[in-house]
Amino acid sequence: PASVRLVAVSKTVDLERIQAAVDAGQDLFGENYIQEAREKIAGLGRPVSWHLVGSLQSNKAREAVALFDLIHAVDRLKLARALDAAAARLGKVQDVLIQVNQAGETTKSGVEPAAAGALLQEVTRLPHLKVVGLMTMPPWFPDPEAARPYFQALRALRDHLRGLTGLPLTELSMGMSGDFAVAVEEGATLVRVGTAIFGSRG
Ligand SMILES: *Cc1c(COP(=O)(O)O)cnc(C)c1O
Repeated sequence: PASVRLVAVSKTVDLERIQAAVDAGQDLFGENYIQEAREKIAGLGRPVSWHLVGSLQSNKAREAVALFDLIHAVDRLKLARALDAAAARLGKVQDVLIQVNQAGETTKSGVEPAAAGALLQEVTRLPHLKVVGLMTMPPWFPDPEAARPYFQALRALRDHLRGLTGLPLTELSMGMSGDFAVAVEEGATLVRVGTAIFGSRG
């Protein structure tokens, strides 16, 4: 459906290959690391849109706000406050997603589902941030069907939070190379695909 946008995740991919993707019509890229993104954005400019898909430290908030149209992984108030202050300084309203860690994996960031409502309400009070939806990264499974319950749960949580806050929360960032088709079936609006486009990161 037209509601689904492809975020080409280009971490570790060099500029020539990103340019080849641009030439092929791709206009939205996802990066994980500030320094790497800074160089690429300087090299390629902004005929394309850039999203930060990886986790972020508060001390990099200022650069993140300067570089990215959407920040996918806001999962704590301290980070949200840092982003809000940085956006205020730049005179920008920064679009963000709340990252949810549904499986409770300690190796992944994200707010636990039960705490997502409270975090959302706090972040919504920050005048220079706009929460446009939720993001998740389920555990890795060899069978993409196994990820489906996590995608369903994210959509259900979004519907619940929508009722709670009255915010539209239109964006659901979910699905990667191995499971984006299942994520789209469950309502993803942003799929974050790296390897399936650029090949193995080696
Ligand atoms: C690297 C990364 C992706 C892309 O993963 P692939 O399996 O290569 O498609 C998506 N989301 C996040 C947060 C990532 O760090």
